[in-house]
Amino acid sequence: MESANEKYGYILVRFGELSTKGKNKKDFIRQLTRNVKYALSAYPQLEYRNDRDRLYIFLNDTDPVPVSQRLKDVFGIRSFSLAIKCEPEMEAIKQAALYAAQKEWNEGKRTFKVMARRNDKSFPFVSDQINRFVAGRVLHETELKVDVHNPDFPLIVEIHKDAAYIMAHTELGAGGYPVRVGGRAMMLLSGGIDSPVAAYEIMKRGVMIECVHFASQPYTSEQAKEKVLTLAKMLSRYQGPVRVHVVPFTDLQLAIYDHCPENYAITIMRRMMVRIAEELAKKNKCLALVTGESVGQVASQTLESMGVINEVIKLPVIRPVATWDKLEIIAKAREIGTYETSILPFEDCCTIFTPKDPVTKPRSDRAEQYESRFDWKELLDKAVENTETVTMSEE
Ligand code: ATP
Ligand code: MG
Repeated sequence: MESANEKYGYILVRFGELSTKGKNKKDFIRQLTRNVKYALSAYPQLEYRNDRDRLYIFLNDTDPVPVSQRLKDVFGIRSFSLAIKCEPEMEAIKQAALYAAQKEWNEGKRTFKVMARRNDKSFPFVSDQINRFVAGRVLHETELKVDVHNPDFPLIVEIHKDAAYIMAHTELGAGGYPVRVGGRAMMLLSGGIDSPVAAYEIMKRGVMIECVHFASQPYTSEQAKEKVLTLAKMLSRYQGPVRVHVVPFTDLQLAIYDHCPENYAITIMRRMMVRIAEELAKKNKCLALVTGESVGQVASQTLESMGVINEVIKLPVIRPVATWDKLEIIAKAREIGTYETSILPFEDCCTIFTPKDPVTKPRSDRAEQYESRFDWKELLDKAVENTETVTMSEE
């Protein structure tokens, strides 16, 4: 049996938004546990256990710092704390709390507040009593003072049926839902700043992504493609391996420029992109498309444009950053580490074929009319057929 003075040997993980109950809750916890294990697979010595509202990680002498760092990227975690585990019995709890309090004192903390939570209702004392007993012991044995309004640290006590946990720090998790509980979506990943952020946001809602990238070689370089694959690799940090479907888009694009007026080229090109993306989505059991579009940012992102582009497909299109300012998107891109890669100067298919004066208010009848001028269906099928799929992961 462990002694009450056992050092911090556990991490206690609190779940995120659990608005759903019953079977969904079970799925949430099962998936979260799986995702945590995957994220921490570099530490095979860790041991896991979960109950209905907590996941416990036994560190087995592992350095908690890198483990905590990695946990911060797992969606579905509200917060987590390094914890001392002890017997669910008052004397053991007091001793462990005293150990934790002394450690905080050594680090310069001077005031505390006990916050007890009794999960096991058969424990013979209520929270208020536990608070008083624990605080009494700490006040008696140390020079720490109680400050209920603004303590230097909380002394958190959680009592479960089989064990109690003592903690003095809480770190925020990434929030959201565990990736995979929300099904799968096809992410349109360009090499820009916006789409990786949109990808992050949709994964945060528990949706697993596959990516589609439209490449226009030889007009775009091998490096432009590598950059997109690098971004996909970075995104794999949040969900595990990310599949990227690279679509050879050049022939279709050249045909568009041959047959359609220049100012409609972008509109038609986007319609082709979403048609292809929808086809790949269906083939790969994805339930929606996701883009990094932001309302009003460029000609193809006015509401009129979005309408004319959207009308050629049936799947829902999610636009996580639709209402974000560019500066907000950039701030997020920096935070998740994709910004530096996104701004590498390799040309994108859209930057090369950008017309001087794209329509900001395209009309569907016109778009249809221009499309009827050439056999795009054949070119589209060929592009899908020649799509190359690469799987990207961190190591
Ligand atoms: P980003 O920073 O994501 O490139 P952007 O502001 O450059 O965004 P656009 O180039 O107009 O915007 O593209 C809007 C969205 O269309 C992108 O966020 C992405 O989802 C999709 N998209 C654009 N180009 C491509 C491409 N070559 N391959 C895949 N998706 C693309
Ligand atoms: Mg772009």
